Amino acid sequence: MHHANRPTRIQREDRIVAEVEAARDEIVAFTAEMIRIPTVNPPGECYRDCAELVGRRLRATGLAMEYVEAEGRPEHTAQHPRVNVVGRGPAVPGRPRLHLNGHFDVVPPGDGWTVDPFAGLVRDGRIYGRGASDMKSGISAAVFAVEALRRAGVGLAGAVDISATVDEESGGFAGVAHLCEAGIISSDHTSYAIIPEPFGPTRVCLGHRGVYWFDVVAHGHTAHGSMSHLGRSAIEDMGALLEAFRTGLIPELATRISTLPIVPEPSRRPSLNVNAITGGQAGEGTQSPCVADRCVATVDRRFIPEEPFEDVRAEITRLVRSVEGADPGRRFTIEERMVVHPTSAPRGSPLVAALSHAVEAVRGHPATLVASPGTYDQKHFDRIAGIQHCVAYGPGPLEEAHQPDESCSIDDLLASTQVLALAALELVGPA
Ligand SMILES: [Zn+2]
Repeated sequence: MHHANRPTRIQREDRIVAEVEAARDEIVAFTAEMIRIPTVNPPGECYRDCAELVGRRLRATGLAMEYVEAEGRPEHTAQHPRVNVVGRGPAVPGRPRLHLNGHFDVVPPGDGWTVDPFAGLVRDGRIYGRGASDMKSGISAAVFAVEALRRAGVGLAGAVDISATVDEESGGFAGVAHLCEAGIISSDHTSYAIIPEPFGPTRVCLGHRGVYWFDVVAHGHTAHGSMSHLGRSAIEDMGALLEAFRTGLIPELATRISTLPIVPEPSRRPSLNVNAITGGQAGEGTQSPCVADRCVATVDRRFIPEEPFEDVRAEITRLVRSVEGADPGRRFTIEERMVVHPTSAPRGSPLVAALSHAVEAVRGHPATLVASPGTYDQKHFDRIAGIQHCVAYGPGPLEEAHQPDESCSIDDLLASTQVLALAALELVGPA
């Protein structure tokens, strides 16, 4: 059927872009208001306040709003409740649904700030504060993308849902993982997901590498330090293992490379970092002369999609056993802390195409496809909710995440909001 007065695609896009521009001050004010709530994780401060701030905004946008607490999770306590907020668009059976998700927890501010990290200062075209980049600007972009569609009077064939969640910085178990396990985010009703993490207004992030995080424990035998030949030093045994990492495994990992466009470029290769070594007596306080009977190395192995996790694990076990076997009496055990599998949206995904078209429409040049060296909530969308068509796209310089004087350019925030709105329209379709 042909409607004579139906706007053309270009007219519709122009109207949406203009509505975002007209909302500039509101978008900045809302972002600054979120930054002023110090949602520091750990321990998870002020989550309810921030969830309610976002919730009021989602309701004003016309979404059906619900607070979801992470009942049953040990970190959900009376003192630090884990409160997520979800806004749902109308039910449209058989039509595509898009989910926009951002985390509102932030890492502690740390030292080195020249501005108040929780003042939401706006200066010279930038918003400053902890979370300005990672990722309260991203939540603002998601919310105002949907609001701009509404203000432009653009009806949607499908629907867009928005969630703002907790604890991404500590693994996302009470946040996105909880919503996925509860079926609130699920491939049963949702085809696409975009996480506005700070990759900047022209980069689409396809996914992330994997993490294998484990402790190796060296077990020695204590003795008087003056007769150390009667003991077995766990620290010396650990030294042998560290040397094997340095001369054997680490150079071997440097020969592998991923086809995923991971940035920065050196992260296209897998890596192994020893995050911590603890052994013998605590460094502070009075020392007694003893041979160390225990030494622990906490190891952070980042792996690429080309490395199956079972191979990654077997390679570590083999190396540890071979160092152990090189000296009778040497003994190591491995204790796993965490495994995160790599994830990546399919290359030909309509989601990637829609974001690329929208970046081109707003910025005049195509998007750059990248992948992340570190993980974020995409793993839960993929592995728990079964939504493979998930990417990260959002405002803010990645380099400023977790840094002092974190900030986001207001122009970039607006451009990303426009891109999200246009991409959402392409994905769920005009009514
Ligand atoms: Zn983040």
